[in-house]
Amino acid sequence: MNAKDYIELEKTYGAHNYHPLPVVISKAKGVWVWDVDGKKYIDMLSSYSAINQGHLNERIVKAAIDQLGRVSLTSRAFSNDRMGPFLKRLCEVSGMEMALPMNTGAEAVETAIKLARRYAHTKKGIPEHEGEIIVCENNFHGRTTTIISFSSDPDSKKGYGPFTPGFVTIPYDDIPAFDKAINKNTIGILVEPIQGEAGIHVPREGYLRELRRICDRKGILLILDEIQTGFARTGKMFAFEHEGIKPDILCVGKALGGGLYPVSAALASREVMSVFTPGSHGSTFGGNPLACAIALESLNVLVDEKLAERSREMGAYFVKRLKEFKSKKIKAIRAKGLLIGVEFHLGRGETVRPLCERLMEKGVLAKDTHEKTVRFAPPLVISKGEIDWAMDRIRQVFEAA
Ligand SMILES: *Cc1c(COP(=O)(O)O)cnc(C)c1O
Repeated sequence: MNAKDYIELEKTYGAHNYHPLPVVISKAKGVWVWDVDGKKYIDMLSSYSAINQGHLNERIVKAAIDQLGRVSLTSRAFSNDRMGPFLKRLCEVSGMEMALPMNTGAEAVETAIKLARRYAHTKKGIPEHEGEIIVCENNFHGRTTTIISFSSDPDSKKGYGPFTPGFVTIPYDDIPAFDKAINKNTIGILVEPIQGEAGIHVPREGYLRELRRICDRKGILLILDEIQTGFARTGKMFAFEHEGIKPDILCVGKALGGGLYPVSAALASREVMSVFTPGSHGSTFGGNPLACAIALESLNVLVDEKLAERSREMGAYFVKRLKEFKSKKIKAIRAKGLLIGVEFHLGRGETVRPLCERLMEKGVLAKDTHEKTVRFAPPLVISKGEIDWAMDRIRQVFEAA
């Protein structure tokens, strides 16, 4: 079979809920992937920041293989010897007090929503069915029915109603709007420190600090979704560290599984987390020993290999190189660490997809985010030489645009 055959098979037997670039990957290592014809590409997406530690990181693979010689799944009907050590490390790394393990990012967000509601309804006296969670325009928090209920992206919503009530939308990076939206039934705000899927929107400095201050004053919850920004992607272990604050509830996922396995969690203080009681929430696979062994090593790799520092240094170098390009088509470069968006001046209805296709032909895999922006989010283990390799090709494509 060749690439065309594999793509045909996917199209015939798989739902068409994605529009992938026409590359069929069969092998990967570090920042590199190879297609079925043996052509090499540099991965500038890292599966939406789920592979911060690099493809098939040797330490994480070893942790998985070791665990596969012991036990993979116990369910939460029993305890296992991997979950406790993993949750302890996750709390140490994040500065939170307790964690509830799930599998996908969307489940972590669902967990955070349930946690926030139950806390507000049982401890804060907000009547059940009346609590409101404030969210931001152009958010991306996942794909479940409840989460898409408060999406502002029509593609994510069309045909899926009726929607879950209890969410109020305000503009992103708008403190006065937040202040105004708060009323006696407000539970808190769910927000991304940087809006990734919306096109790498970095809010003004002080945004998170202001949100924290207002939440404290009003006694409501600051719920951060760091599923994409967490685990060293933006140059700190978590994006909230840039502003010296801490959330009340934190959602993590993606790179927690080191690119090997879906692992997510919702974290909170002991007081908030105490509203969960036996039977009130759960997951068959959440906290399974294989996931915990992989996630523990994924955390250790981030810390031991100083990937936050590396993300900061390599991100600065990446942006410096991008700024050297002579292209009138580039409208804006937005970045924090190795989460980088390049927005283009385009006509009505045009997207950067053709640019991504040309990058692919040259051996650079990057994906459009929000039509007009190309996202660069390579594995954080990337070296200067590897950035230079990519930059020669990106420059050719962008300067010809
Ligand atoms: C990817 C992502 C999610 C959803 O994670 P899944 O594992 O795809 O369910 C939620 N929030 C943010 C910010 C994300 O980037």
